[in-house]
Parts: sequence; structure tokens; C-alpha cells
Amino acid sequence: LNRRLAGFGTTIFAEMSALAVRTGAINLGQGFPDTDGPEAVREAAVRALRDGRGNQYPPGPGVPELRAAIAAHQERHYGLEYDPDTEVLVTAGATEAIAASLLALVEPGDEVVALEPYYDSYAACVAMAGGTRVPVTLRPHEGAFRLDLDELRDAVTDRTRLLLINTPHNPTGTVLTRAELAAVAELAVERDLLVVTDEVYEHLVFDGAEHVPLASFPGMRERTVTISSAGKTYSFTGWKVGWITAAPALVAAVRSAKQYLTYVSAGPFQYAVAEALALPESYLTGLREDLRAKRDLLAAGLAEVGFGVFRPAGTYFVTTDIRPLGLDDGFAFCRALPERAGVVAVPNAVFYDHREAGAPFVRFAFCKRTPVLEEAVRRLKAA
Ligand code: PMP
Ligand code: GLN
Repeated sequence: LNRRLAGFGTTIFAEMSALAVRTGAINLGQGFPDTDGPEAVREAAVRALRDGRGNQYPPGPGVPELRAAIAAHQERHYGLEYDPDTEVLVTAGATEAIAASLLALVEPGDEVVALEPYYDSYAACVAMAGGTRVPVTLRPHEGAFRLDLDELRDAVTDRTRLLLINTPHNPTGTVLTRAELAAVAELAVERDLLVVTDEVYEHLVFDGAEHVPLASFPGMRERTVTISSAGKTYSFTGWKVGWITAAPALVAAVRSAKQYLTYVSAGPFQYAVAEALALPESYLTGLREDLRAKRDLLAAGLAEVGFGVFRPAGTYFVTTDIRPLGLDDGFAFCRALPERAGVVAVPNAVFYDHREAGAPFVRFAFCKRTPVLEEAVRRLKAA
């Protein structure tokens, strides 16, 4: 492993899922649904395969049907207009979108400001791009992890190239408010920064929390790369269909990087995701309602066990504090939990540069069937 990637051995998700398989524990570690997405969308994938659509290299930017569906989605939900031909790029999941964006936009030595805790691939991709990550720590305040806008402002220097934002936020479940996003946008405009915003959980928001795309704020459309993924919205994490929307020059830059990473993304699934994006609004309402009920179940169960619970406003993760249990090392806790309780969780410390700031926090995923969550709570209570 070269110096850039030293320290990025195995992702926590692979490690924890392997541990779940080895111990037979319930896997609330890696975030993936244990129920696949809509039957009609699966059928669309089968049809595409059978009819020979996408079985050979599809167009580099993505199949036209999917690019049109993505543009229509941004317009329908957010009133953001993107030209499907020049302002949309299909990627191999949000993961490739993140990698290609950073590889395309970051010069060696540039600073990239990211919210901490951050999704694990951010650090690795900033490193691969030769950038320096500058984490701004979200801090617990009145039951949620909040962004301190002064800290964000202070983190920006003359070397800052871009802000890497994630809302709804994994792992904390925080959804940045309109006012917070407006302040982020103002800062980006004032300091002339690019913004890469990971909005893969855009539709997974609860209790009236609102997801507002950063690209919708004044001065932001031309400087923002917005990332999303069918993995989260349609429960097909294995299909690896993601995308970006951005101004033509940014899309062209990210496409240049993508060309030499994967060249194109897998074909048949793109046609199926185009159909998914056209599902009626009731699909999204149903998904949110289902996840809200599961969040409530798991959050209540974890609170009864004695965890401090940060009730998430978005995503399908709940972050807990183990200090009320008399413990303070999330790593040790998560390593012991499968044997002790038959449950797998993820130590949030892996998402921090300031490891000590994340030490007592542990993340549980609730995108699982209700009986599975009930059994997990039973096991934790009995342990
Ligand atoms: N960003 C965030 C914040 C995520 O949680 C995930 C999924 N784990 C991804 C990106 C990656 O998405 P995909 O599976 O589409 O590559
Ligand atoms: N995004 C998912 C999570 O946070 C997992 C993705 C992965 O395994 N790389 O758990």
C-alpha cells in the first residue's frame, strides 16, 4: 500500500459484516436494507437484461433515459433544472461519484473541509487526490450533533479548495437546517469555494425535517456538485447506481476522472433506476413511514437498554452514547458486542480524525425488518 493510502486497510463495514457472518450476530453495522427495493423495479432490471438494453458498454455519461429521469427528479423535488446532456453524470454508486469528484477537483496540497464524523471513503479519496482533509467536528448539543458555523468558517484558509458536505448526515442522522445550509452557502460564495455535497439520504428524513439541496441556495448552482444514489432511495445498494448533478464544467471534470476509473457504469440497472425515479410520490412516503417506525422502535429499545440515544432526523442510522452504560471505548464495545450480545454495531470513532471526540459513540442501522430489530433489542437487553 502506498503512502497516500497507508492507514486505509479494510473498511469498517467489511470488517463488521465479516464479524457478523462469523459470529452469526444480527448485523446492525453496515448500512444496507435486509429487504430489497420495489418488485416493479427489479422486473425492470430483468427486462433490460433480457431485451439486451445495457448489456454492452452504455454511454459514458449514463443512459439517456436515466439522465432524463435524474434531471426530472431534481426539478420535481427541488425546482432545480439540469440539462440531462451536460449537467448529469451517472456513476458507480455515490462512492464513485465522491472519488471522481475529489480526483477531478482537488489539486495536491489543497485543503478539503469536511464535517466530522465523515463517511469513511471521504478521507481515503481526499488522500488519493493528494489533498489534506480539514475536519470540522459536529458536536452533541441537546440530543443531536450540530455544526458550529464559526468553526466551519475558521477552518477555511487560503489553501481550501472545497467543502465536502453530507446532509442528511451519516453516521449522526443530523439534517442540516435551511439556516445552516444558507450559512454554508454564503461562506462558499464569499471564499469562492467549490462544494461537493453528498445527499444520498435526501429522501430519508423524519418528523417534518426538510432536506434542502445546497445547490438551491443563491450562488451555489455553479459551484456545487450534488451526489445521490439509488442504493439508499430505492434499497438497491448492490446495484451501485449513483449520480451527480452540476454545472457543465464541473460535470465535464468529474466525467474525465470517471472515464479512467470505471469508464461507464453497469448498463441494465441504469434502465431500471430510470423507472424507479418515476415511481409515484407514495413510494417515498411509504419508505419514510416504514423507516420512521423502525427508528422509533430501535431508538426506544436502545434507550431502555441504557444507551444515550441521538434520535436521528434523517438517514437509517442511530448514533448512541455508551457512557450512560459506564463505558467509554466504542471500539472495544463493538468488538465485544457480537460475542456478548449477538449484535453488530459500528464504532463512530472510525469516522473521526479526532478519534477521542468519537470514542464513546456507536452507530446502529435500522434499515432491517421489524422482527430483526425486535430480536436485536431483546438480545441487547439480555446481555
Ligand atoms: N455516502 C454516504 C454518506 C453513504 O452513507 C453511502 C452508503 N454507505 C455512500 C455515500 C455510498 O453510496 P453507494 O452505495 O451508492 O456507493
Ligand atoms: N454506507 C453504508 C454505511 O454507512 C455502507 C457502505 C459500505 O459498506 N461501504 O454503513
